[in-house]
Amino acid sequence: MNRVELVSGFFRHLAQTSSSPMAMVVSEATGSIIRDAEGRDHIDLLAGMGVAATGHRHPKVVARIEEQLGRHLHVMVYGEMIQETQVALAQGLASLLPATLDSVYFTNSGTEAVEGALKLARKARGRNRLMAFHGAFHGDTLGAVSVGGNPHYRDPFEPLLPDVGFLAMDDRDGLAAIDDSVAAVIVEPVQAEAGVIIPSPGFLAALRERCSETGSLLIFDEVITGLGRTGTMFAFEREQVVPDLLVLAKALGGGLPLGAFIASRDLMASLCQDPELGHVTTFGGHPLSAAAGLAALEVIIEEQLAERAETAGAHFEERLTALLSGPCLETVRRRGLLLGLVMDSAARTQAFVKQCRAERLVLGWTLHDDRVLRLAPPLVITEAELEESALRMQRALARVS
Ligand code: PLP
Repeated sequence: MNRVELVSGFFRHLAQTSSSPMAMVVSEATGSIIRDAEGRDHIDLLAGMGVAATGHRHPKVVARIEEQLGRHLHVMVYGEMIQETQVALAQGLASLLPATLDSVYFTNSGTEAVEGALKLARKARGRNRLMAFHGAFHGDTLGAVSVGGNPHYRDPFEPLLPDVGFLAMDDRDGLAAIDDSVAAVIVEPVQAEAGVIIPSPGFLAALRERCSETGSLLIFDEVITGLGRTGTMFAFEREQVVPDLLVLAKALGGGLPLGAFIASRDLMASLCQDPELGHVTTFGGHPLSAAAGLAALEVIIEEQLAERAETAGAHFEERLTALLSGPCLETVRRRGLLLGLVMDSAARTQAFVKQCRAERLVLGWTLHDDRVLRLAPPLVITEAELEESALRMQRALARVS
């Protein structure tokens, strides 16, 4: 298909939920670079929304996918047959996690993993009530939308799950609203779509304490923050708070679709009785995704990408703050290589994003705060690529100031 046919086919036959998609015609992607159909290279500062932590097509990930291709694809629904890549990945994750997070249920996506975690919590506790945070984003299936913290995206889909309450980040007094009717509280340790909101030190520990007091399960949604993005393998390590359930996706599949919810074996056993097979999936933990995920996990460890996220992120923040300082940029929020640039208005943010894209940078604003431009580049992005990105952003900002 030529470029014109591709563009018209995209707008005619691919369902759109955005009135202004990026609509770049992709030719190929390697490392931190996406090449378009005209042969122009774009620096990827979003990593496919936090997926390509090890970069696009890391050679070890590609090799492991090819090896798996030569063995088998889908053979049976999840959890019935013993498949080496799934077992190795689950073991690899368990070896990095506290002993209470040793049982991994693989899904196809983040939102499905959230659904599984919510079902498990309600079943295990025999309670219905769920609590979540204002500004939260946990995915777009109905259960995940029910615990989404932005009425703009929730209200049009009501009625959703009943009995969901919302808490405000950093409001310690508000934690009293968690009582013994609450099955679980779900929280992102850093709220990405809300505009890269970082809880103040000690808040997540206070949340943990309140959940333990009331017997409510604490679910950490680390779909975006997990696997090195925020400078530690999991964001909860920094806060020294261990959740009862951990949700992963995005970087977990090394570029293929994969999610997981993780709990203790005891807790997970609730999905095995009354009824047995209380949660099933056909494709969850697909062997190709598990193979890619296993290779990605090895790369994240071998190449020390969590540490790299912190050092590269700190340097990038410094450059951005120096180059972009002025009335348009109010502040830079950062954890590892997850950054939010807070601009002075939504209009300016949109104009800036447009100019950045003209400079061949792939980036965008967050779903719940259109004044915040979010950056989540591959964790393997080089210093030279970050420096070049900062210079291009400086030029882009000069045109919208
Ligand atoms: N949770 C968080 C924190 C996310 O950022 C996302 C997606 O952006 C999801 C859940 C949903 O993941 P998925 O798009 O794989 O369903």
